[in-house]
Amino acid sequence: MHDLKRDFLRYLAQTSDSPIGLEIERAEGSWLYCSGGQRYLDFISGIGVSNLGHGNPEVLGAIERQAKRHLHAMVYGEYVQRAQVELAARLAGVLPPSLNRIYLTNSGAEAIEGAMKVARKHTGRAGFVAFDGCYHGDTTGAMALGGNPVFRSPFGTLIGPVRHLPYGEAGELRRIDDSIAAVVVEPIQAEGGVRIPSLDFMGGLRRRCDEVGATLVFDEVLTGFGRTGRLFGFEHFGVVPDLIVLAKALGGGLPLGAFCGSDQRIGTLAHDPPLGHITTFGGHPLSCAAGLAALNVTLREKLWERAALQGAKLIASLRDLVAEQMVAVRGMGLLIGIEFRAPALAQAFVARTIERGVIINWTLNAERVVRLAPPLTIGDEELEFALHAMGEALRELR
Ligand code: PLP
Repeated sequence: MHDLKRDFLRYLAQTSDSPIGLEIERAEGSWLYCSGGQRYLDFISGIGVSNLGHGNPEVLGAIERQAKRHLHAMVYGEYVQRAQVELAARLAGVLPPSLNRIYLTNSGAEAIEGAMKVARKHTGRAGFVAFDGCYHGDTTGAMALGGNPVFRSPFGTLIGPVRHLPYGEAGELRRIDDSIAAVVVEPIQAEGGVRIPSLDFMGGLRRRCDEVGATLVFDEVLTGFGRTGRLFGFEHFGVVPDLIVLAKALGGGLPLGAFCGSDQRIGTLAHDPPLGHITTFGGHPLSCAAGLAALNVTLREKLWERAALQGAKLIASLRDLVAEQMVAVRGMGLLIGIEFRAPALAQAFVARTIERGVIINWTLNAERVVRLAPPLTIGDEELEFALHAMGEALRELR
């Protein structure tokens, strides 16, 4: 018989020595169904993508209709393609006017790279500031911003110069100076251990960027589209960035990213030289059709309100578990971190919870923190199922 798992390990490039390796047969709502007949509650939305759960009928219908119209037709930016235009217009309608010009990409990292190029071209400067613990993707530019030297150092010279500052420390923002093209920041650090900065820090960051003429870039790849209890993370802080980077849930389950800013900023890519930033598949019509349907559902159902409600319940119940191995539970909406006393405890907790049918994972740059990011549509019974599994897993760690 054809051994899928063996061929997965034999032919696909591996990213670690210990992949979860579940054989996914199909997915529906908040659940993943495997070939062995088991099902798992997708408590990370794989990761941060399936905000509407899996198999939303409006998204599937939009994909089917677009597939019948056309797939790829031309590199991004040449032909007028309805799916791209309609998504961009809808997105512009929910973003502040200064973020109304949208460049569509394939992924989050590609959108980060685009934002870095815009900032350099617009300011005529070379330097970047990013923050300890941050994650912006794994292409060489995005990785250079990454806030964990363990991941950067094996790859030699990456794009520079990048200055890393401590996340959340307003006093350090003076180190942003007029050599800096852009400051790239997550409004809530996800891979950094679900860290939530203060209003003071974010306000100070906006003021400092204005003082020195640096471009303030918000990476909302994970925090966008309702995940944190607002449509976008920046809304929590009363700060509007100069560029916003989106991906993950943007494509409704298909690959799609975007960087958005003012006409003046994004317009720098259209000349000197023209075609200095192009992409074959960026803004693929299928992804845009899925993304528009997903955005329409998100807006109609006000899913950010649901994220806030379900997130508050989940955080309160997790705090009630009060296990001695846990240091803290924190989060915004349905982006939640559980901090343990030691990395080994976090890893054991993840393994035990998955054994009980709930998929969770730890964070890349904070080994003691486990991240929860279920679909925003998660139901009460599903929350109960997850809490029961996590409670049992904690008891087993004692
Ligand atoms: N930025 C953040 C905050 C992310 O979480 C990620 C991916 O996890 C990225 C950027 C990179 O996105 P992609 O994996 O689509 O390149």
